[in-house]
Amino acid sequence: MKCKRCNGTGFLNLNQIEDQSVIDAGVDSILEWIERQEPYEYTVCVCDYCGNGFEWYKTPGEIDELEPVTSDTLRCSFQREWIAFQQLLPLLLKTHLGKYVAFAEGNLVDEDKDEIKLAKRIEQRYRDRFVLIRQVCQEDTEDQLPSPEADILPRMNSWGSS
Ligand SMILES: [Zn+2]
Repeated sequence: MKCKRCNGTGFLNLNQIEDQSVIDAGVDSILEWIERQEPYEYTVCVCDYCGNGFEWYKTPGEIDELEPVTSDTLRCSFQREWIAFQQLLPLLLKTHLGKYVAFAEGNLVDEDKDEIKLAKRIEQRYRDRFVLIRQVCQEDTEDQLPSPEADILPRMNSWGSS
């Protein structure tokens, strides 16, 4: 059935693509457009009900269930934000060292030196969405922070192997 979250397009925030011909040309054209953008400048992304940014679960814009908000969806969301964070980390270490950053839908969406303030803003804006909040710091200090990811990561390792 048609995915309501992305309105059957397979993507979120498609309205940010001003060039309609990109959208009309189809899924591959849109994916290429996304790849050409700088990570800071867009929020167009693959619909997390339809795919995980690496592969589509079915046909883009098509899903099996009406509301597939499951732990699998959360894991996919977590994986995507985690990868986005890791990819941007070398840059963030130069520009945001010590700050807290928030990732949603594969993009850096907010930042603050105060974790509580950031978390409150994110909670208001992304009420029902998974958002990854991490402090930008060198790897060896991260272990000191207890976080929900610690619970998710071990299970992610077996994801897809069943
Ligand atoms: Zn969708």
